[in-house]
Amino acid sequence: MTPSHRDTVLVTGGAGFIGSALVRRLIESFDGRVVVVDSLTYAGHLESLEGVSRHPNFAFEHVDITDAKAVRTCFETWSPRIVFHLAAESHVDRSIDSPATFVETNIVGTYIVLEAALGAWRIVGTDRRARCKFIHVSTDEVFGSLGPRGAFTETTAYAPRSPYSASKAASDHLARAWHHTYGLPVIVTNCSNNFGPYQLPEKFIPVVIRSALSRRVVPVYGTGENIRDWLYVNDHVDALCRVASAGEVGQTYLIGASNERRNIDIAREICAILDELRPSADGSYIDLIEYVEDRPGHDMRYAIDATVTRDELDWRPAHGFADALRETVSWYLANEEWCSVVMAGGPEGERLGTGRQA
Ligand code: NAD
Repeated sequence: MTPSHRDTVLVTGGAGFIGSALVRRLIESFDGRVVVVDSLTYAGHLESLEGVSRHPNFAFEHVDITDAKAVRTCFETWSPRIVFHLAAESHVDRSIDSPATFVETNIVGTYIVLEAALGAWRIVGTDRRARCKFIHVSTDEVFGSLGPRGAFTETTAYAPRSPYSASKAASDHLARAWHHTYGLPVIVTNCSNNFGPYQLPEKFIPVVIRSALSRRVVPVYGTGENIRDWLYVNDHVDALCRVASAGEVGQTYLIGASNERRNIDIAREICAILDELRPSADGSYIDLIEYVEDRPGHDMRYAIDATVTRDELDWRPAHGFADALRETVSWYLANEEWCSVVMAGGPEGERLGTGRQA
């Protein structure tokens, strides 16, 4: 992405996992201003932005996207050319326990952000207006669960099955409606499961790493056969930057690297890397893996066909899965302090997502 020095990019959810990776990239790769809008929920941490938060181009707005007045003020103040909307409640297990927050943030919050973006976009000059983009960052989970074959494409019908994916699906529909009805230059992206540094240690890959290191049970839901299509977070960031510079307004881009893996295989692969990088006198980490009660409504398989994104945006994932997983494990070994800070007082090691079962 090559915005001019006058440009402002606004990133909602920029203190989270993917948002912070995007902000790090933006700060290092162009000379415009980068404004993070984030309410710092349990999932958002300024510690994830420590390397960039003192940069002169960085600004932080401590704002909840469900606060319409504050969000409107942000957009009036900064008048961004590019908006990356990532702020969301993002953990499926938490959505099972507490769906209300997902409806509030992901649906109502997105509506509020769209309205504020529309208000700011309408009052900029025609030339500048034509260069604006609102990139709504979403997930492949909106398409539901696949059988053993096939992959999601831009035309796959929506069939979300968890409170998380249903709330994201609703937000995708709102974003597209604000384009078709009001002309807001929206682009929607649907990406597969991300992994990499700074992911909160309540998501699968860091849970495996942290549980193994603490010699707790390494939990694998159900039979461990569920398949996810993994993408290294910096490859997602590359794709988002390509969307910002070359994406067509009104389009949808699916982002994925065709790295399908069963959960049990991921857990074993991580334990094998740990056995090598931090061998334990107490035995192989693989022996700590246990199958635990399945997630209610657990989707079986996700897979992305990213042909359109590859062809139209000339995007390719730059990282091989094995190397990126190893790098990720090494990052968690080197950053135990970050993990302790972001999990302080949180439910590390506790089971989430079974709270409302009859
Ligand atoms: P995350 O949970 O790590 O970060 C979410 C960020 O949003 C946090 O910084 C949090 O403080 C902020 N936030 C939450 N509620 C807010 C509110 N009401 N107001 C302001 N800020 C708020 O999430 P992530 O994994 O980085 O995901 C970012 C986006 O990408 C989400 O929209 C998610 O649906 C989407 N996505 C994630 C993945 C994945 O594998 N993680 C894959 C595809 C798409």
